[in-house]
Amino acid sequence: SRTRLARLKDAPTVTLDGTPIELLCNIETPRDLDLVHRVNADGIGLYRTEFLFLDRLDRPSEDEQYEAYRDVLKSMKGKPVTIRTFDLGGDKDFAPNTTRVQPNPALGLRAIRYCLAEPTFFLTQLRALLRASVHGTLKILLPMVAHAHEIDQTLQLIARAKEQLQREGKKFAEDVELGAMVEIPAAALTPGIFLKRAHFLSIGTNDLIQYTLAIDRQDDAVADLYDPLHPAVLRLIAGTIQFGVKNGLPVSLCGELAGHPEYTWLFLGMGLRQFSMHPERVLSVKQRLLRADLADLAPKVQRLLKLDEPARLREAFEKLNAAAT
Ligand code: PEP
Ligand code: MG
Repeated sequence: SRTRLARLKDAPTVTLDGTPIELLCNIETPRDLDLVHRVNADGIGLYRTEFLFLDRLDRPSEDEQYEAYRDVLKSMKGKPVTIRTFDLGGDKDFAPNTTRVQPNPALGLRAIRYCLAEPTFFLTQLRALLRASVHGTLKILLPMVAHAHEIDQTLQLIARAKEQLQREGKKFAEDVELGAMVEIPAAALTPGIFLKRAHFLSIGTNDLIQYTLAIDRQDDAVADLYDPLHPAVLRLIAGTIQFGVKNGLPVSLCGELAGHPEYTWLFLGMGLRQFSMHPERVLSVKQRLLRADLADLAPKVQRLLKLDEPARLREAFEKLNAAAT
C-alpha cells in the first residue's frame, strides 16, 4: 500500500546481500524537486533541460539557465545532480529556432548534434552550467552521443567556457564530471570510445529501443513492436553495464524502464547499481531491490541473456520475477 511504501523512504537502499544501490530521479523542471525530496532520492540522475523551451518561442538566456540549474543544485544540498545538455529536436521539438523541415527528425540534427552545429548557443548553456557548478555536485550529461569527436568537441567548448569565465572573474568548479548517454546502438557497441573521454555513462532505453528495433517511439501503429525484452535490446544494455563494471566506469540507466519494478531484478542481475526514474517510481523500485539477492540473480540473468527464442526469454523473465513479488 501507499503508506507502507512511504515508510521505505528512509530505509538504507541496499540489496539483501548488503550491496548499496543508488536511486536517482529524472526531473523536467525545478518544480519537480518537491517529489524528489518526498522520496529521499540519492540525487538527480537526469534533468531534461530542454523543458526550459516549453511554451515559448525565444531561447532561455544564460542568466535564466544559470538560475534554474543553481536552484536544482542548491535544493539537492551536495547530492549529485546530473544535468543533460539540450536534447532538442526529434520527439522534443520545442521550436528550437530551426525553420528547416527535417526529413527524419529522429535521425537528424538533434541533441548533441544540434548543439555542436550551434556552438554559440551551446556555449551559453555550458557557461550557465559551469557558473551553477559552485552550488553543489554537478555532472554534465550529453544526449545522443555516437562519435568520439562529439565528446572531444564538447570538451573543447567547456575549456573555452572556462577561459571566458576566468577572464570575467566568475567562479566555477574545476572538477565537473562529463558523461554520455548510451541511447544509440553504435554507442552501446563501442563503449571503449568513452573510456578516456567520459567519467560516466547513462543508458537511455527509450531511444535505445527505438533505434535498435527501428520503431518510432511516438508511432502508435508500431507500438506493439516496441519490445524492451527483445534479446538485441537486452544484450546492448547488459553489454554496456558489464563494460562499465569491468572498467570502473559508472553506468546508470535513466530510460523509463528504470522505473518499472518488473525490470529491477533483471538490471540488478546485469550489474546495474544506479537507476534514475520519475520520482513517483522510486519507492516501488526500492521495495524490489531490498529483497534482491545479487549472487542468486547474476547467473540467472546471464543465462537469460543467452536466450534467443522470445517465448523462452519471456518465461525466464517471469520466473526471475516470480521470486521478487
Ligand atoms: C531515453 O532516451 O531513454 C532518455 C532517458 O531520454 P529521453 O526520454 O529524454 O529521450
Ligand atoms: Mg533519449
